[in-house]
Amino acid sequence: MLVIKNLSKTYANGKIEALKNVNLSIEEGEFTALLGQNGAGKSTLINILAGNVKKSSGTVQIGRYDLDSDELATKRIIGVVPQEVALDTFFTVKEILEIQSGYFGIKNNNQYIDELLEILSLQDKKRASIRGLSGGMRRRLLIAKALVHQPKILILDEPTAGVDVDLRNSMHEFLEKLHQLGITIILTTHYLEEAEKLCKRVIIIDKGRIIKDEPKEELLENY
Ligand code: ADP
Ligand code: ADP
Repeated sequence: MLVIKNLSKTYANGKIEALKNVNLSIEEGEFTALLGQNGAGKSTLINILAGNVKKSSGTVQIGRYDLDSDELATKRIIGVVPQEVALDTFFTVKEILEIQSGYFGIKNNNQYIDELLEILSLQDKKRASIRGLSGGMRRRLLIAKALVHQPKILILDEPTAGVDVDLRNSMHEFLEKLHQLGITIILTTHYLEEAEKLCKRVIIIDKGRIIKDEPKEELLENY
């Protein structure tokens, strides 16, 4: 589903090496955590996959497509949930999802939108304006927004950073449901417990390099 070869990224004219020769392959349906300290390179990796940051070297294959030659096709395969909650408070939940559908040229997906809202426990908020939603609801709406074009891979950047225990637990339930639907999930976190609880595979990034990539049972014994 995702094959990354010799991926490197430098910033500031080569002075900062955010990713150094990263090799990574992720199969369809896997639920993977990218674990690492602040500054390790997690966001850079996600931003490259999402097409928001240009890589310096290496190759990235997403589904059947190469990121360099088929960027638009790769964007359809990936849904990204950003760390920051940025939603236009003028709109309703339904409108946000319809506008997002429009970007992908998708029409008449009411039924799918209803299913998404159901999974994310937002069905009662369909016609509510964003202004009245709690932080937790907004975060869930961001997940729905990332799934509107039915991507095969869902990438979440620190989905539970700064979130209280209850909200974190309900986010975990939603992610489990999405995993059971067959979506390939990659999330970044700096919470070891979160990676431990949710993911079958944990990849540790440190200073731009993958230093561990193991099934979680082995990893946790040695961490
Ligand atoms: P993480 O998401 O794991 O915290 P990042 O990918 O944000 O790590 O950062 C990796 C490294 O790249 C850090 O040293 C960070 O300061 C640097 N970096 C990230 N974005 C930029 C940027 N736009 N310009 C310069 N340096 C950056
Ligand atoms: P509720 O009304 O459902 O209790 P809140 O809006 O109070 O939800 O937020 C629940 C938790 O999520 C709080 O711990 C809050 O700090 C956190 N939170 C809310 N919005 C954000 C945000 N934009 N970024 C990070 N954390 C947030």
